[in-house]
Amino acid sequence: MAIKKILKMGHPLLRQKAIELSAEEIRSPQTQELIQDLVDTMTSAEGIGIAAPQIGVGKQIAIVGFEKQNQRYPELATTPLQIIINPKIEILDPTHQGYWEGCLSVPGLRGYVERPQKIKVSFLDENQKEHRLELEGFLATVFQHEIDHLFGYLYVDKIKDIKKLSFIDEFVQFHSTSQSGSPP
Ligand code: ZN
Repeated sequence: MAIKKILKMGHPLLRQKAIELSAEEIRSPQTQELIQDLVDTMTSAEGIGIAAPQIGVGKQIAIVGFEKQNQRYPELATTPLQIIINPKIEILDPTHQGYWEGCLSVPGLRGYVERPQKIKVSFLDENQKEHRLELEGFLATVFQHEIDHLFGYLYVDKIKDIKKLSFIDEFVQFHSTSQSGSPP
């Protein structure tokens, strides 16, 4: 129930593998409070995803989604809020697709990242219910980006052509229409 400070690139906690939660831990009031903090912090920052290490907690919890029009990504449709605990990713189609990604821990920048275009992701939600989702397109990228945070990776690690790392103003001016069908 609080908006937390978001750690920025360079902070060592963003580079550590987060720890899986036990069933008991998922049920605990501390975890439920952490989930609410993540929701509050993501909403306040107008993100479409956030992971616990970004607010300094090394646990395998991430959130994806937004319910209303988002300023940072105005062209995206809404996606229901999904709590992701202890996730595992299986690649269903290794063909890479590229999108311009942004990150609350790397403010002011966008970078072009190619990732597998179709994945299956298995995880628990805040009620320990198991989910298995097959995802493709931009949502597959968003899940991979958030889950990477739980293993100490940032999107900048995966930019193949470093010339495709841009400040947002320059991205809008020079790159936003350069990749067909790619939301920023
Ligand atoms: Zn991020």
